[in-house]
Amino acid sequence: MQYDYIIVGQGLSGTHTAWQLIQKGCHVLVIDKGLPYAASMAAAGIINPVSGRRFALAWKFDEVFQTAKDVYAQMEEFLPHPVFKETDIYSVWPSEQMKEAFLSQLNSGNPYLKPHEGTLYQDIGQPLGAGWIKGAHVNIFALLSVFRNLLIKKKALVQDTLGEADLKVDGKNVQFGDFSAKAIVFCDGAHQCEKFVLPGVVPAKGEAIIVEIPGWEGNNIVKKTNSLVPLGKGRYWYGATLQREFEHDKPTTAAKDELEDQLKSLISLPFKTVDVIAGVRATTVDRRPVVGKDPRFGNVYHCNGLGTKGSSLAPFAALNLVKFMEGEVPSIDPEMDLNRYFN
Ligand SMILES: Cc1cc2nc3c(=O)[nH]c(=O)nc-3n(C[C@H](O)[C@H](O)[C@H](O)COP(=O)(O)OP(=O)(O)OC[C@H]3O[C@@H](n4cnc5c(N)ncnc54)[C@H](O)[C@@H]3O)c2cc1C
Repeated sequence: MQYDYIIVGQGLSGTHTAWQLIQKGCHVLVIDKGLPYAASMAAAGIINPVSGRRFALAWKFDEVFQTAKDVYAQMEEFLPHPVFKETDIYSVWPSEQMKEAFLSQLNSGNPYLKPHEGTLYQDIGQPLGAGWIKGAHVNIFALLSVFRNLLIKKKALVQDTLGEADLKVDGKNVQFGDFSAKAIVFCDGAHQCEKFVLPGVVPAKGEAIIVEIPGWEGNNIVKKTNSLVPLGKGRYWYGATLQREFEHDKPTTAAKDELEDQLKSLISLPFKTVDVIAGVRATTVDRRPVVGKDPRFGNVYHCNGLGTKGSSLAPFAALNLVKFMEGEVPSIDPEMDLNRYFN
């Protein structure tokens, strides 16, 4: 079977890349091995415009957020399934320093912050006060499953591992078993295919707990050290840890204990942990994606390095990559071009 592009991976990156290529009328084949600890399967889907102890605005956030809103709206219409919602994040200040940083950003006109007076939830400890962050939430699980079903219907998904031994890339053609294409796009996240590993990508494990909190009806995302995210049906996601050194990808008791201790100091109600989940993110030192044409091979592309912000960065990175691959723009945004790690 002949395709325009073979895409490796159907996490957030592969989903958005496939979506953009299909919009252009390209014939794509997605190969996904169903990695149990893929980052996208563990993520909460929060889009938070600010990060770190200083509430600094994320990289190119205005542009990234506008693209995300446009792309998710198009996807929702087509799928058709709700996956994206703008929502305010209740930011509980964990320290005097962070309270001051928030207020300083607010006073200097950061458009994504809003003040809050008083206590929103009696059961949330907020001795230093709280404010609002204007963010969004992506239902990643729904997005990936609905899109996967769509690919299956189009006979555009192979549930298999793309092994390097079975892949032939000669600069003009890509051959994987019976499938051939003019190019291949690696959207394989932290577990990259060995021969095509990108410099600059650093794996960072993350773990979260899924809890039930009887009597709690909070329907906002609450962020203190970590985030409490309503999942519906009385369940909440709480996380996540970030470990650059780890022995395996699976959930650990140490992370469960750490997260439970933190959650106890956030909420005064008893809760029960019903699951512990883990995933490995592909991060970069400069916290920007790594996207573009691999200089080592003629027809190999990557959309990777989405770090802790795949929900917002995947639509932005994939759109730029697809426009570049299809000759609509002459280059990848230099700040996320993977060539910065080859020079
Ligand atoms: C605990 C946790 C919480 C997070 N929370 C958030 C959040 O709230 N908001 C946010 O924006 N981001 C969050 N993130 C980050 C986000 O999950 C990532 O940025 C994003 O999911 C990365 O997507 P990806 O498609 O690049 O990689 P992945 O999700 O890892 O997907 C890679 C895919 O490639 C497939 N694959 C790999 N190799 C092969 C192969 N050889 N053959 C076939 N298939 C292959 C895998 O099966 C997998 O499906 C979180 C991450 C973690 C771990």
